Amino acid sequence: MSIKTPEDLFVHELEDMYDAEQQILKALPKLAQEARDDKLREAIEHHEVETHTQIQNLEKVFQSLGHQAESTTCYGIKGLIQEHEHFVAEQPAPEVLQLFNIGAASKTEQYEICSYTDLITEAQLLGHDDAVSLLRENLKHEQEMAKKLEEVNSRVSSDTIKQLQPA
Ligand code: FE
Ligand code: FE
Repeated sequence: MSIKTPEDLFVHELEDMYDAEQQILKALPKLAQEARDDKLREAIEHHEVETHTQIQNLEKVFQSLGHQAESTTCYGIKGLIQEHEHFVAEQPAPEVLQLFNIGAASKTEQYEICSYTDLITEAQLLGHDDAVSLLRENLKHEQEMAKKLEEVNSRVSSDTIKQLQPA
């Protein structure tokens, strides 16, 4: 499909997020497995369930526009996942990998928050009201997850520093 109009761009960005969410869904079980903190693991597992809903919501958005649900590679999320793979290859201590993962998950949430915020603005301007409410639900999930990660991060960071940082 050639991209000529703002409507085309909107669909392109939906396809990008549709791929992003599927990449994230695949990555979350690994992050849950690498979590050592129970609250962190619970938050990741809860977000995995939400991500299924987010994918369904995107499918409903495509449907409301009369488009087939298709994906286009999201290189932003692909890059974040590759960073994780490279870091794991450095054989970090499990506690350090957990801290890295909290940071990586926060970056992912911020990426999603920006993407959904933009999509909502575009949907509003283009008059796609059904899309607006579905995308808002996804945005809310991401904002809640970002907040949980912030809370977990300060606690786990300070515990890990106490544990592993020579005075
Ligand atoms: Fe998501
Ligand atoms: Fe998310």
